Amino acid sequence: MAANEKKQLISELAQVHQQLEDLARFPQENPNPVLRVARDGSILFANTACSKLNFNCQPGQLLPEPYLQIAAEVLDSGSSQIIEAEGKNRIFMVNFVPITGAGYVNIYGSDITEHKKTEENLRQTRDYLDNLFTYANAPIIVWNPELEITRFNHAFERLTGRSASEVLGKKVDLLIPADERVEALKKINGTTSGGERWEVVEIPIQHVDGSIRTILWNSATLFDTDGKIPLATIAQGQDITELKAINKMKDEFIGLVSHELRTPLTVVTGAINTAMDKRISEEERYELLEDAAWGAESLDSILNNLLELSRHQAGRLTLDKKTVSIREIADKAALIVGNQHPKHTIRVDISGELPPVIVDPVRLERIFTNLIDNACKYSPEGSEVRVFAQRDRNEIVVGVSDHGVGIAVEDQAGLFEPFSRVGPEARTKGIGLGLVVCKRLVEAHDGRIWVESKPGEGSIFLFTFPLPKPDG
Ligand code: ADP
Repeated sequence: MAANEKKQLISELAQVHQQLEDLARFPQENPNPVLRVARDGSILFANTACSKLNFNCQPGQLLPEPYLQIAAEVLDSGSSQIIEAEGKNRIFMVNFVPITGAGYVNIYGSDITEHKKTEENLRQTRDYLDNLFTYANAPIIVWNPELEITRFNHAFERLTGRSASEVLGKKVDLLIPADERVEALKKINGTTSGGERWEVVEIPIQHVDGSIRTILWNSATLFDTDGKIPLATIAQGQDITELKAINKMKDEFIGLVSHELRTPLTVVTGAINTAMDKRISEEERYELLEDAAWGAESLDSILNNLLELSRHQAGRLTLDKKTVSIREIADKAALIVGNQHPKHTIRVDISGELPPVIVDPVRLERIFTNLIDNACKYSPEGSEVRVFAQRDRNEIVVGVSDHGVGIAVEDQAGLFEPFSRVGPEARTKGIGLGLVVCKRLVEAHDGRIWVESKPGEGSIFLFTFPLPKPDG
C-alpha cells in the first residue's frame, strides 16, 4: 500500500472513530433519562438525566422494584411496556424496550410533568364548567344539529318536571307546547343551521303537568375548527312568566286608574265650569259645587289608597298612633262616604262605652271609608249599611255589613290581594285597591281582616284591633 493511501485510510478511520464517539455520546446528551439494564437487572448504562429519577442509577447498581420486575417481564415477553413513574418533583413516562437478541432492556424516560399539569388544569376547568352548568339557577340546554337534546341541567329539570335521563337523545320540540312548536322550531333551526345567535328570543316551555312558562332565551352555536359545521347549540333561559304577568297587571292597572280618575275629574271640571256661568241661580250653583266636592272626594280617596299601597310596597308605612274613640272615627267616615252615596243609610252602631284604642286615626278612618264605600257600592240604593264594634276579650272586633250582592266563597280568599276585582259588578265599579289597603293597614296595627258573605244576601267585613295591655 502506498504511503499516501495508508495516510488516507488512517484519516478515514479517525473520522469513523469520531463519528462513533459522537454517536456514543448521543444517549448521554439526551435531556431525558436513558438506561440500559442486563437480564439480571443490573444497570449497564445510565445517562446524566437519570439523576432526575428517584433511584440510584449508577452502572453496576440493581434496578429497584417495580422496574426490576417490568424489565424481566418485557425481556420474557419480547414486547415493550410503558409505565408512569414519579421522579424527583417530576413525573415521567417510562418505556421499557426489550432488545431480545442482546438480552438487555433499554429504558427511555420522558418528562411529562407539564403535560400532566395541563391535563389536571383541564380536568379542573371541565369539572368547574360541569358544575356551573349542572347547578346554575337558569335553565340551560344543549342540542345537536339533529335538534336532539344532549345536555339538560337541574334548573331545566325543575322547569319541565322531566329528568335529564328521560329527555337526552329526544328532540327539543318535546319541551314546547304543541301549538307553539312550528314557530319555535323555526327559531331553533335558525340557531343550529343558520348559526344565528339569540340575544332575547321568547320560546315557551311546557311542564309535564301541562303548565306553560314563558322563557327568554339566549344562545350560542359551537362550530368545528373550520367554523363551518355546527356541532351543538347551547341555550340559556330566563323565566319571565311572573314578570310578564306583572307587566300585564300594571298595564291593566294604569288603564283602570286612569278610568277611575277620569270619572270624578269630569264631574269636577263640568260642575265648576257650569257653576261659573253667571246666568244660573245660587241654588243651582250650590248643587254644582256639591257635585264638584263629591268628585274631589272620590279623587282624594283613590289617591290616598294608591299612596298607602305604594308606601307599604316601599316599606315606608309608619303609623302615627294616638288614643282614640272608634265611634268618633266611624262617624266621621260614615259622614264622608254618606256624601258620596246619599241614597244609602249608613248606621253607626257603636256603644260609647267601648274602651278607647291606640291606633293611627287617619288610617282607621281610611279602613272605614274603604269598607263603607264598598258596602254602598255593592248594595242597592236605599239599603242600609251598618257599622258596629264590640269587645272580644283583649281585642276589638269591628264590622261593616251590607245587604248587597255578596261574594261567592271561591272569590273570598283572593279579595285582599292587589287589584282583585270579582263578580260582575267589579268591571264597572273600582280598581281593586280598597281591600288590599285595608288589609295592609289592619295588619300594620297587628289586627286581622276577613269577610263573611253569602251571594245575594250581603257581606260583613270584619277586622280586629288588639286592645292595649292593662300594664302597658
Ligand atoms: P274596588 O275598588 O274594585 O271596589 P276593593 O279592593 O275595595 O276594590 O274590592 C275588591 C273587590 O271585592 C270588588 O271589586 C268587589 O268585587 C268585591 N267587594 C268588595 N266589597 C264588597 C262588598 N261589600 N260586597 C260585594 N263585593 C265586594
